[in-house]
Amino acid sequence: MQAAPAPPPFSEPAVAAAPASGRGASLHALLRELYPVPRSLTGDGVRQTLQLLQRRLLPGLVLHEVPSGTPVLDWTVPAEWRLRDAYVATAEGERIIDWHAHNLHVLGYSQPVQSWLTLDELRPHLHALPAQPELIPYRTSYYHANWGFCVSQRQLDALNEPLYEVCIDAELDPTGSLTYGELLLPGEVDDEVLISCHICHPSLANDNLSGLVVAAHLAAALGQQPHRLSYRFLFVPGTIGSITWLSRQTPASLARIRHGLVATLLGGPGAFTYKRTRLGRADIDRVVAQVLRRGGYPHELRDFVPYGYDERQYCSPGFDLPVGCLSRTPHGEFPEYHTSADNCDFVQPDQLAESLQLYEEVLRVLEGNQRYQNRQPYGEPQLGRRGLYGAVKGQGNPRQAEMALLWTLSYSDGQHDLLAIAERSGLPFEVIRRAADQLQAADLLAPLPATA
Ligand code: ZN
Repeated sequence: MQAAPAPPPFSEPAVAAAPASGRGASLHALLRELYPVPRSLTGDGVRQTLQLLQRRLLPGLVLHEVPSGTPVLDWTVPAEWRLRDAYVATAEGERIIDWHAHNLHVLGYSQPVQSWLTLDELRPHLHALPAQPELIPYRTSYYHANWGFCVSQRQLDALNEPLYEVCIDAELDPTGSLTYGELLLPGEVDDEVLISCHICHPSLANDNLSGLVVAAHLAAALGQQPHRLSYRFLFVPGTIGSITWLSRQTPASLARIRHGLVATLLGGPGAFTYKRTRLGRADIDRVVAQVLRRGGYPHELRDFVPYGYDERQYCSPGFDLPVGCLSRTPHGEFPEYHTSADNCDFVQPDQLAESLQLYEEVLRVLEGNQRYQNRQPYGEPQLGRRGLYGAVKGQGNPRQAEMALLWTLSYSDGQHDLLAIAERSGLPFEVIRRAADQLQAADLLAPLPATA
């Protein structure tokens, strides 16, 4: 038998240094800085957002520009939308709806307009929320030529002038491009973890800035320490961005993606929700479920549905990547969703810090989860002779540590990974992971390559 390679170091949590409160403040500061940037599917708002991430946290972030009109899978990269000004004004020149007052006031991807309209002519282009009269809704019209304004019902009810000046100074440039950001953090092995978040919403804090700032902090922390797996972070406009990225991959590059998460809706007071991968039995599905349960986080596990965020694209049957979606309250299930109430007060620093901590715990298990082969499977190896039995020192629970050795030997049959052994034994993953390191150091376990 060959000598087993040295056991891989089991890394501590990806970020352990700063206290949660300090990290929450850092996450929230970035969220507040990004909040006013006028993002959309394309345009300078997206570029400014990515450049700000580069400056603050991620110097290695690569910005990709894909020309408008490029065919991407069954779609086409849209014209680049540039908005310079937008308002509705009275005959006296008073701006009663003003894009400069709130990004949400303009229907995303509005066509240019410069006209005088009666209230009846204007009204079909105004969007409000009668059931939430103080809030401005978030509306877009990416793939149908249209224009419009979003206002509170209170603003709408107050309109009583006969004639309004309507201006949307915008351009849909067919020679523009779509921008997305990508950061690869190479590890000891080529197996990749994909973390994806959407970056196309203007002035909405939970959807989507919370996912963006958590992903950026996660990447920054990983970039400062060694890790076994490789990590690929994507910052893409929703749907068309992930479709564009997927269209530029090769079968070989996609085959490296062993685990993935869409990071979104990570603020707000709600409990965590994990939406499984399409087939529902990927490693990431087991890992997230285990971390949520063992960590005592209130949470809900849901099966995949073909609606939601970019997991729809990654999990489409042709690609079938093992990508789940780990959020707090899902889209459409909290009253602030897609309204002006999804602001920097709705998302609190501690919520962001807890979300980041959860992601780090998930990555920690992914890092440590491997399969092993018991090298002495005929009868129980004599642990005492190797200093492993009854002599486990410096560990909180010696009995638990001994049981972990027995469980790990018993199920290291090439079929079960360490997570499965933790689940089967009811012991914490960290305890099983430590047992595997001890057994490997004693030449009783040999690591196996990841399954295809
Ligand atoms: Zn949204």
